Amino acid sequence: MSSPVSVEDAKAAVRTLLEYIGEDPSREGLRETPDRVIRSFAEIYGGYNRDPTSVFKTFRDGSERVDEMVVQRNIPFFSNCEHHMLPFFGVAHIAYVPDEEIIGLSKFARLVEVFARRLQVQERITTQIADSLMQHLKPKGAACVIEASHLCMVQRGVKKHLSDTTTSALRGVFLEGPTRSEFLRFIQQMPRRPVF
Ligand code: ZN
Repeated sequence: MSSPVSVEDAKAAVRTLLEYIGEDPSREGLRETPDRVIRSFAEIYGGYNRDPTSVFKTFRDGSERVDEMVVQRNIPFFSNCEHHMLPFFGVAHIAYVPDEEIIGLSKFARLVEVFARRLQVQERITTQIADSLMQHLKPKGAACVIEASHLCMVQRGVKKHLSDTTTSALRGVFLEGPTRSEFLRFIQQMPRRPVF
């Protein structure tokens, strides 16, 4: 991770937090914890080092006849809320109606990770996914719906167990009634989101 803060300073900060909550950072079970926490950040916050542009390797060939909606449902993701640094997680549903270019289906999951592996709010991931599809693929329309559970609600605060938050971003033809209805019908079909 490229950072102005050294790894040693970051580990020291974790030790400080451990002491703050009343722990003894020198006890055996915690001795390696700062190191593990900082190493886990490389993955959990790896989105800062990834450019969404790199995901958009498009295929112009073969797209001539593709003008139907492409939908991928139930893409699992994990992120961390920027207000509490606690996880939120769930599934993303992504769709677009191609114009000239199409994208490999495996790229949807990578696109979600670029934006999810940062400190985030659910609304922003949703709009970033839809807007980056519009920007890079120039489709007739793009849509993203995210359903997620937030530990900052479940584990603390209002404690609404199992409550879900749904956000959506619709662009282009998805703002029109028939395309929007078709997309919503697709993503409401069974099976529903996996249980974590
Ligand atoms: Zn939160």
